[in-house]
Amino acid sequence: MAIEKTLSIIKPDGVRRNIVGKILGRFEENNLNIVATKMIHMTISEAEGFYAVHSDRPFFGELTRFMSSGPVLVSILEGENSVSQHREIMGSTNPAEAKEGTIRREYAESLGENTVHGSDSVENAAVEIAYFFSKTEIVNSAS
Ligand code: ADP
Ligand code: MG
Repeated sequence: MAIEKTLSIIKPDGVRRNIVGKILGRFEENNLNIVATKMIHMTISEAEGFYAVHSDRPFFGELTRFMSSGPVLVSILEGENSVSQHREIMGSTNPAEAKEGTIRREYAESLGENTVHGSDSVENAAVEIAYFFSKTEIVNSAS
C-alpha cells in the first residue's frame, strides 16, 4: 500500500472546545503520523483561498466566516492510504449521517461546524499542504 500525506484541519469549533488532543489521539491510534503541525488563525481571504473550489456554493460565506472565526490546527498526516484513512476516521460531512465512532459523529455540532477537514484526494492533498506548509516545516516524514 502507498504511503501518502494528507492535510488535516481541526476547525475553530474543535479548538474552542479544547478537544485538539483527543482528535490528534484518534489519528495516532490509527497509525497516521504527524509530520507537521501548527496553530494558525486564518483571515477571511486565506479561508476563501483555501476553499476556492466551493466559491460558487451557497454555503461559501458561512464556511469562510466560520473557518476564520478562531484558531485552527493544521497538520500533515502521513501513513498508508492516509487520504482515505483520514476521511474514514472523520466520518461523513454531515455529522447526523456520520458512522458511529467517527470524529464528526462524536464531536461535530452541525453540518457547517463539523470539527475536522481532510483532503479528498492525493492530488488535492498536495495542493492543500502547499497552501499552508513550506518543505522545511515537514520534519518527521518517511519519504
Ligand atoms: P468535506 O469537508 O467532508 O470534504 P465538502 O468539501 O463538501 O465536505 O464541504 C466543505 C465544508 O463546507 C464541510 O466540511 C462543511 O464545513 C461545509 N459545508 C458543506 N456543505 C454545507 C452545507 N450544505 N451547509 C453549510 N456548510 C456546509
Ligand atoms: Mg471537501
